[in-house]
Amino acid sequence: MATMITNDCINCGACEPECPNNAISQGDPVYVIDPLLCTECVGFHDYEACAAVCPVDCCVTDPNNIETEEALIARARTLHPETQFADNFESRFRKGQGKEGTEAPKKEAPARPAPSAAAPAAAASPEPAAFATPGYGEAEVNFVPLPDIDSWSISVRCFKCHKTHVESVRSFMIGNVIFCPHCNQSMVVRDNLNFHIRTLLKDSYDKWEREQTEFTDKTEKELAQFVERRAREAQAFEAHQQRELAKIREQLDAIGETYDAPGKPIRKGSRFGWG
Ligand code: SF4
Ligand code: SF4
Repeated sequence: MATMITNDCINCGACEPECPNNAISQGDPVYVIDPLLCTECVGFHDYEACAAVCPVDCCVTDPNNIETEEALIARARTLHPETQFADNFESRFRKGQGKEGTEAPKKEAPARPAPSAAAPAAAASPEPAAFATPGYGEAEVNFVPLPDIDSWSISVRCFKCHKTHVESVRSFMIGNVIFCPHCNQSMVVRDNLNFHIRTLLKDSYDKWEREQTEFTDKTEKELAQFVERRAREAQAFEAHQQRELAKIREQLDAIGETYDAPGKPIRKGSRFGWG
């Protein structure tokens, strides 16, 4: 399977210089891999170099483009006729068995390029972005408080006068006698009624506490993952901007080096026609 880039790409550019086949380029809207140039790094590494550096894990195998190791090393040989590939060439199909048994580099945000000596001071050394403490508006959860377990009451219908009266759950103790306030009919609380009420309340309270704990744990875990992901994205984006800054500096330097100013004295032997 050739490697492909998904739409999760944040255009940080970290993968592009890692590709031994120059198969990666800036696309629209995200970076793309030319499947005719990608060898899944076969011949060079026993891992996919782009996937190894991608901060958002969006360099993935393309399930619609399955290729054998033989086809991939053949492509590498075609693309690099000057290179001698040993019989035990590096291959992700045989991790750790290549000539050097290389390991994928530890994934981290792309390195920040050194600023040009001539770059504007303020732009060349910006303050570190505040990605370590990103703002995150966490939704506030107002947990509904549970009433005291003994504060519940039950509406009881008298079997004699058929009128209802309200009794506290504390009245439903085994053997307790409850009198109807309308007709004075008595009712003895049997063990099955007491058991039914206590079990219902205990199970409900246990479930309430369990769900609240699970919800809190899940929220905290998701928040930690979000913060970690946001920090990686911010770091990668900062590195991308640093590269763009270096590119601008290089282009300006190139203009300054090659500009052939009219009227400038031409020094014999000077390549640039001035100086
Ligand atoms: S898998 Fe290797 S060859 Fe293919 S695009 Fe990524 S770095 Fe390039
Ligand atoms: S390393 Fe950066 S540019 Fe390359 S695929 Fe991943 S997010 Fe996109």
